[in-house]
Formats: sequence, C-alpha cells, structure tokens
Amino acid sequence: MRNTVTLSNGREIPQFGLGVYQVPRGSATEGAVKTALGLGYRHIDTAHIYGNEASVMAGIRAAGVPREEVWITSKLSSYANEYQNPAAMDQMLERLGTDYVDLVLLHEYSPAWKYGWQLLEQALSEGKARSIGVSNFNGKNLSNLMDFATIKPHVLQVERHPYYQQKSLRGYLASYGTVLEDWYPLGHGDRGLLSEPLFAQLGAKYGKSNAQIILRWHIQEGSVVFPSSTNPEHLAQNIDIFGFELADDEMAQIQAMDKNRYLNEYGK
Ligand code: NAD
Repeated sequence: MRNTVTLSNGREIPQFGLGVYQVPRGSATEGAVKTALGLGYRHIDTAHIYGNEASVMAGIRAAGVPREEVWITSKLSSYANEYQNPAAMDQMLERLGTDYVDLVLLHEYSPAWKYGWQLLEQALSEGKARSIGVSNFNGKNLSNLMDFATIKPHVLQVERHPYYQQKSLRGYLASYGTVLEDWYPLGHGDRGLLSEPLFAQLGAKYGKSNAQIILRWHIQEGSVVFPSSTNPEHLAQNIDIFGFELADDEMAQIQAMDKNRYLNEYGK
C-alpha cells in the first residue's frame, strides 16, 4: 500500500495508517503495530497522552521494519504542560527512541498555543520533526493560528466521518496548503454508523465490509486516515481498500449522510 498525499513541504505522508488511541501500552500496542506493519501499514499515529509511544517503537523493532520506512506521528499535550516546556520535543524523542518524528502536532487548543507552535517550528528547523501541525483547532482558534504561524501547519487533524463531515474545512485549509487528517474515521466503532444500510448495500456490490466502504470514502475524499484496531482480521480488512473505487454518485450518497453531529466533545 503505497498511496501517499504530498504535504506543502513536499513530504509524502502515507494516506492510510494505524491509530493507537486507547490501545494499552505494552504487548497490545506492540502486537498491533507489529501485525499492521506485517500487513503493509507504514504509518502510525500516537500521542504523548496515549501513553504508548515507547510500545509503538517496540512494535516497529519487533516487525523488523527499518524505522525510516515508517511514518510516525505523535502529539504534544497541553495537559502534560508541554507547550511551554522547551525540552518537550527531546523528551518525546526519548520516549519514542528515535531522533526525529515524521509529524508532530499540538494535540489541542490551549491558551499557551503560541509558545507551543513556536516549539514546533523550532523542532522543524532543528530536524527533530519533519512536518508539523495541530489537532482540534477550529473556528477563531484555527484562523488565529494561520495568521500567527510562520510555517503554516502541514496538517490539521480533526474528528471527521460520514455523520460529521465539516464540509467547509477542506476548502479553507487548501488556501494554506494544509492537509486534513480524519480522526474517528469509523465513528470510534459507533454501531449506528457502522450498520447504515447504504454501507451494506455498497459493500454487497463491491464485496467489502461496511467499515471498508467508510474507509474508502475517506480515501477518495482525499483525507489521511488511521483507523484503530488490535483485531488482526480488522487490521487486514482496513488496509484492503485500494482495489476498488466508489462511483461519484455513491460518494455523493455518503456525503448526503452528514448529520453535523460530532461523537466526541473534542470534535466540537
Ligand atoms: P475509529 O473510528 O478508528 O474506530 C475504531 C473502532 O472501530 C475500533 O475500536 C473497533 O471497535 C472498530 N473497528 C475497527 N476496524 C473495524 C472493522 N474493520 N470492522 C468493524 N469495526 C471496526 O476510532 P479511533 O480509534 O478512536 O480513532 C482512530 C485514530 O484517530 C486514533 O487511534 C488516534 O490515532 C486518532 N484520534 C485522534 C484524536 C485527536 O484528538 N487528535 C482523537 C481521537 C482519535
């Protein structure tokens, strides 16, 4: 699976990956990462507050895949008081056991975001991060960041799935060259979303599961996605979405499912 999206700095981010939110540190994370890499995944999305950065790297080592072949994203947390800690990037690299991250994000808006953003720009100039961005910034907070940033964020990571499509965002971001990453791509396993009849209908047509239809929609929308799972069958299924294509009218039917309804307060 070699689909990539080109960021405004010219770097190629794998469009599909594995997220490890709520996956316990230790054997659960290590095992999921190792299995995923064996299946062809080359992108892992973690964060300081997930508590499993070290296990991500242990999984990469266990898989025997060279570190430089894997895109690693992590996030600084305002809750861990990292936005004003000049050592925060070094501490992240130490937890991960690497000398650079492919992408580092501010995990959420906080009053200290300006200091945090400057830390990221500095990390970029020092080669500790190869791309930078933010997560969970919206509205005025996002436009303030765009005005302030010397280097515009390479990505914005927000809640996005067929029930919550934030349709105006992509056009807005395009003017800054910022690429969208969709968290909760499967609605965090929301039963209502996963069992929508439209997905079953399209799944029957293409010989795919409902989850695969949803993930394919994200890919054709142009987003970067990293659904989470520790289940080997789901891990295999989730990456198997590159051999078929939804038709324009099918994409439109999914676009019409938007309820403007977020599933997590962070998505607001
Ligand atoms: P998700 O939408 O990826 O849903 C994952 C859940 O869906 C799994 O726990 C499982 O129950 C189910 N699932 C997975 N594959 C399936 C399949 N093939 N068939 C049926 N069910 C399946 O939700 P998520 O894990 O919370 O989000 C994905 C990633 O996004 C996270 O791991 C994390 O990396 C990122 N994220 C970021 C933020 C942020 O604030 N920046 C917040 C939440 C998540």
